[in-house]
Amino acid sequence: MNYTPILEEIYTDIQPLLGEGKIADYIPELAHVSADKFGMAVQTIDGDLYHIGDSAEKFSIQSISKVFTLTMAMQLEGDKLWTRIGREPSGTAFNSLVQLEYENGIPRNPFINAGALVVTDIILTHYGNAHRSVLDFIHILCRQADIDFDRAVAHSERETGYRNAALAYFLKSFGNLHNDAVQVLDAYFHHCSLAMSCVELARAGIYLANGGKLPWNDQVIVTSNQAKYINSLMLTCGTYDSVGDFAYRVGLPGKSGVGGGILAVMPNEFSVCVWSPGLNASGNSLAGTRALELFTTLTGISIF
Ligand code: GLN
Repeated sequence: MNYTPILEEIYTDIQPLLGEGKIADYIPELAHVSADKFGMAVQTIDGDLYHIGDSAEKFSIQSISKVFTLTMAMQLEGDKLWTRIGREPSGTAFNSLVQLEYENGIPRNPFINAGALVVTDIILTHYGNAHRSVLDFIHILCRQADIDFDRAVAHSERETGYRNAALAYFLKSFGNLHNDAVQVLDAYFHHCSLAMSCVELARAGIYLANGGKLPWNDQVIVTSNQAKYINSLMLTCGTYDSVGDFAYRVGLPGKSGVGGGILAVMPNEFSVCVWSPGLNASGNSLAGTRALELFTTLTGISIF
């Protein structure tokens, strides 16, 4: 299928939405991006790439990094992971503290901040260096060694990330953080600060559309069953407390970040990444969600 005419139609249709929504400014360094940016890239498992708009411009991937760190934790621990993290939608904001108290320090899922902090803790325990190991992993996924953290963004979040610090110490009080909280937070902020474009992110996510393997060399990243698990978690937990609305409108597993990116997956077909910085009330890209909704509607392709 040639997706170019569809991307062009989407690009025209979403123009009135650009500038709508709110740019995340609770991490001060994120506030500098201009509101009218929009990019979209589709990477097929056959190696074709379709893209439009600001698809080559790097942005802060923020919580989309949770897909990649979860993948690493699954490689390392398999099902043991689920003794420390749940697999249910949270129904609360991504940075909520309340639920963690009720549920004795076991985060609802790996895609809310508390869950991702436990995932980062696991990576730190196994590798000793949770910065380098994640960068190396991303380089393998993208076949590109120049992808890097945006250190200004990471430092900006470290200076202001009081709520994440609260979550980390809270986890620690329940015995669900094994390493030093400051070290875990620093690694987590760096993972969130990864600067990547839509084209790079669509490529990085292609193993999830291809049964856990990189299509160009058949390298196994995770088993096909684990790829199913990750996609299922994206569908049920990847877009926070508007995950039901996202699934209804888009019909694909997706993971969003407050930088305005969303990575979505159509198993056996493609991965797609969209970026537009204006966020809706749940912290998902407003124009990005609409673009994905149009994409599955116009192509007639979704998991349903
Ligand atoms: N770094 C951000 C935070 O912890 C990630 C949140 C997100 O993208 N939803 O607040």
